[in-house]
Amino acid sequence: MSNQGMWSLYLILLGGPGAGKGTQGQMLSTYLGIPRISSGDLFREHIHSRTDLGRLAQSFIEQGALVPDDITISMVMDRLDRPDCRRGTILDGFPRTVPQAEALDDELRRRAKQISLVLDLQVAFQILIERLTGRWLCRVCGASFHTKLRPPAMAGICDFCGNTLFQREDDHPETVVQRLEVYSHQTEPLRQFYAQVGLLHVVDGGQSVEEVQRDLIQALKTRLGVG
Ligand code: AMP
Repeated sequence: MSNQGMWSLYLILLGGPGAGKGTQGQMLSTYLGIPRISSGDLFREHIHSRTDLGRLAQSFIEQGALVPDDITISMVMDRLDRPDCRRGTILDGFPRTVPQAEALDDELRRRAKQISLVLDLQVAFQILIERLTGRWLCRVCGASFHTKLRPPAMAGICDFCGNTLFQREDDHPETVVQRLEVYSHQTEPLRQFYAQVGLLHVVDGGQSVEEVQRDLIQALKTRLGVG
């Protein structure tokens, strides 16, 4: 980044499950040198380490429902207050409801910060279903593959770090339909929320990974003069 002095960048990646937030968020994190915070990953880490929060979150996640706002907000804000986020962060999967977005605004304001831009990855539901139900992920490096669209060189093995790939429990077809329903009722209103304050930037997320990446970097340049 060419900006001088103390800058901070708070980017939100919006979009349905499977829209590419994880993949693009990792790319932007490397490109900008700021961490990506994925609320879903934070919950999965808690589940994996069998914490109380993990046990609570698991019951909601398994059903394709959202974890209650208060729990989610405090978990994400704790993460955001860690020193590696002092120059900003890329939020992936948070906020997901209007109350979460309002809480985020308040919390950032208290820290004399604000949202820089909201990048909305738009993808048709039919494509999301196809992407999620064939998705395989690497537990170690987080890379994402797809049985048909982006198969790994060796089935079940990550191309990047050689670790074993897994399928998310909530990527099963019945849960996917539920998650899409939750998305359209609870998360889509955020597009309007951010559009009316001029922060929403829509990108066609149905394109290839490289094309979406190009559009996102272009948006950072034109909207924020970054990169
Ligand atoms: P993700 O990995 O972003 O698809 O999130 C997986 C699951 O974690 C979601 O289906 C929700 O159950 C839960 N989750 C993640 N982020 C949030 C959030 N911001 N608010 C409520 N629940 C969330």
